[in-house]
Amino acid sequence: MREWVMRKPSPLVVLTGPSTEMSDYEGSHIMAFAAGFSKPWFMPRFYLKKTFFKPVTSNSLEVEVAPLGLRKLEADLVKSGFKREDIAVVHPDNLKNAVGPETKLIGISSKDPLGLGYVSLTYSSVLNLGEPINKAEFRRLMKDAQKARQKFGAKIAVGGAGSWQLLRPEAVGSFNIDCIFMGEGDATGPDVIRKLVEGEDTPRTVEGKQASLDDISPIIRPTIYGAVEISRGCGRGCAFCSPTMQRRRVMPLETIMHEVELNANHGQNDVLLVTEDIFMYGCNSSNFTPNSDAVDGLFKTLTAQEGLKSIQVTHANLAAIRADKALASRVGRVLRERSEYRLAGKQVATVEVGIETGSPKLFKKHMSGKCKPFEPEEWPSIVLSSLSFMEEQDWVALATILVGLPGETDEDAKQTAKLIENIEDQSLNTFLVPLIFVPLGTCGLREAALKSVTDLSETQAEVFALAWEHNIKIWGPDFFNSPAYKSYWARLGFKAASRILYHLKYKRSDKWRRTIADRTIKALEKVV
Ligand code: SF4
Repeated sequence: MREWVMRKPSPLVVLTGPSTEMSDYEGSHIMAFAAGFSKPWFMPRFYLKKTFFKPVTSNSLEVEVAPLGLRKLEADLVKSGFKREDIAVVHPDNLKNAVGPETKLIGISSKDPLGLGYVSLTYSSVLNLGEPINKAEFRRLMKDAQKARQKFGAKIAVGGAGSWQLLRPEAVGSFNIDCIFMGEGDATGPDVIRKLVEGEDTPRTVEGKQASLDDISPIIRPTIYGAVEISRGCGRGCAFCSPTMQRRRVMPLETIMHEVELNANHGQNDVLLVTEDIFMYGCNSSNFTPNSDAVDGLFKTLTAQEGLKSIQVTHANLAAIRADKALASRVGRVLRERSEYRLAGKQVATVEVGIETGSPKLFKKHMSGKCKPFEPEEWPSIVLSSLSFMEEQDWVALATILVGLPGETDEDAKQTAKLIENIEDQSLNTFLVPLIFVPLGTCGLREAALKSVTDLSETQAEVFALAWEHNIKIWGPDFFNSPAYKSYWARLGFKAASRILYHLKYKRSDKWRRTIADRTIKALEKVV
């Protein structure tokens, strides 16, 4: 085991995040979502850490690659006058070795500290096996941070996309935090951190102002997955979403390539383009028609860069794909050629898209801008035609579906179920991610009620069952052929464990959990 030696003098500012955000899940962007699932009480943490959220490597205390948000903050701090050696970005398990007598601030970034994000709230509620892994890891980190505070007197600040969760009534008094930082850190963060370091008073909750392009500093050290921010904010205005509250800013191509090269110079030859929609890169149109020159220019420059292994994008919009199929085809081709994913023996590109609902009425009510330049009435046909067009380019979507949006009627849910049946009938490979609507503290619907699986109607539970039957049928054979499950004994172990769990827990569970589990187990029997 590697021995860590405390850096002397200890860094003024130590930046970290929960273990679930300090892992690259062995290169799998998809597996990172599973950190929102329940942590089964019978599974020890050391096993999960070894097999699931393996720590990124650290070199003399600091991590070699870090989440993009922490890297941006680190760069903003250096730009504002902090010395590089005043800051250490560490894995949380090394916090005790990093914090010392000279440390004045422990800065923590978390996307989902209390497990109130979409995936964690949905799947810890459906699985009902314990709290989300995310939440358990944040609590553990806070415990270590408190110990460091007691020993050395450092202050604690928490920011990141999930910091709003710490203002919820159930969190009040749970953690001894000096400053909860909400929103963007680029413009406001360095000043707040300077005050905390110098012992000045700051409000307990600070709302960061939206940064201008000049405020956003290029990273100075490498990121997990080679993540590079190409745009921030969206502008389509969906009421259930956070980025819609931010105005859209597009990073200059020179900055993007500077960050790609910086990552590559540190041996990080993969690129993850972080955006709410790859087709909005360089878009200035009020009806969201893609700017094909800007998008083509981005990919042309990226593919000309020597030594890059993979190129992945985080999100794409289905209406934008239909609006410019020629562009979508060119982008899809590059992404497939540079993809590390395979499905049924074929190299495929993947991207996250939002289906959300099959009901034009509900769509119009909560997300009418999402289908521009088309009309809400066309949404179900946009979904099917874009998904099917993508698959012609071997580009497979991971698609979210929202269940329980405010005002969703049984008829709305039936239209969503019908859309899933159409996806199945057209033999599309889309990986469907049904989620229970969550009133994120940073979205327009933040005052809506929080729901759980027991609040679902029969049709809403059917949406879950249909989606998972489809996923297991399409993706199950590949999953159970992966190295971890290839052997007869591993598959037998999985089968036995899922049956035991079903009989001990879900068979006696409430109606909807039992329905979803019944259908999932039957689908699994066919592929394991
Ligand atoms: S299109 Fe996507 S990113 Fe944009 S506001 Fe809607 S859900 Fe959010």
